Amino acid sequence: MLSGLAPSADEIELSVFGPGLGEGMAIHLGDGEWMTVDSCWHDRIQQIPAAQHYLDNIGVDRTAVKHIVATHWHDDHVMGISKLLEFYPHAQFYYPNYFDADEGRKFLAAYAGVAEPAVRGTRELYRSLRTIKERGQQAISIGIRSIIHEANYSWGSLSLTSLSPVSAAWEKAMGVVYGTISPGDIPRSIGKPKTNISSVVMHFDFGSDAMLLGSDLELHQNLGWEAVLADAWASNRRKSSIYKIAHHGSKTACSLTIWNTLLTAAPAAAVTQFLQGRTQLPEAADISRIKGYTSTLHTTSTSTGRPPRATDAERLLTSGLKSVRSIPKIVGQVRYRKRMPSAGWGAEISAPATIL
Ligand SMILES: [Zn+2]
Repeated sequence: MLSGLAPSADEIELSVFGPGLGEGMAIHLGDGEWMTVDSCWHDRIQQIPAAQHYLDNIGVDRTAVKHIVATHWHDDHVMGISKLLEFYPHAQFYYPNYFDADEGRKFLAAYAGVAEPAVRGTRELYRSLRTIKERGQQAISIGIRSIIHEANYSWGSLSLTSLSPVSAAWEKAMGVVYGTISPGDIPRSIGKPKTNISSVVMHFDFGSDAMLLGSDLELHQNLGWEAVLADAWASNRRKSSIYKIAHHGSKTACSLTIWNTLLTAAPAAAVTQFLQGRTQLPEAADISRIKGYTSTLHTTSTSTGRPPRATDAERLLTSGLKSVRSIPKIVGQVRYRKRMPSAGWGAEISAPATIL
């Protein structure tokens, strides 16, 4: 992971972390103020999230992180996010204002304080909401046209908004949830992958430039990216010169219209991997397609194949534990910095991150 000096007051930073499964981000907004978006582990056994490890590395104070965003509740995006919330006492917590039925049931179970779930994504949600309640705070739900943060920094004005999820299906989804929930009915996992229409896409308007974080939002007949692009407010945002590519670069989250409408001609772009079972994203075809859109493409990791499995010896050693933990993997980092208002974005990487 990268170290060195923290960015100066007038430097914007986007750091993208990826261990091969999942992603997290740390963003310097200006004047020493930070936010994090999603989360993955630096060290799962020690329970240290990647963003926390990095911010410690560069000497950022615990009070400097003001916003923590969960773009959606999939395991590969929320590992350790409750730890971030515990570690950064001044942070406001944001989550998407849309749930599908499974996510909605998890949310209700967590909100109601039903016994702490043993599974990961659900447990992160439960613990985050518990921390919020203990602090007497409100978690803030966000979706299309939400203003997350507006502020004046020494470098100029920032307007941070979310372009998704759209709310059209929310009442319907919650109706389904309400009709089906029972105490023994907390979903133990997300289930089979389905089109992601519930992720928060965020747009940072820096006045003279912009940045787009695509979360895991996918294309969908009339929700997802199509709804963002069909919304005049969302599609008229300032074009972004930097892009955290949506949904690990999959073709289900990529269209020429996204690149033409929301991004500048040749933005810098970062992708994170998703390696689980037979699913490997991005695929080779995804990388070639994206390289047709931009010549500056970074990935946080380049591993292939299945994530490492515990050997027999490790299984034996860990068999007395409650759960067998996989070997911590090295977290790759892509770091973009830009001195405001007019310098270009500089990029640095830490292995296994690389330029594609
Ligand atoms: Zn993902």
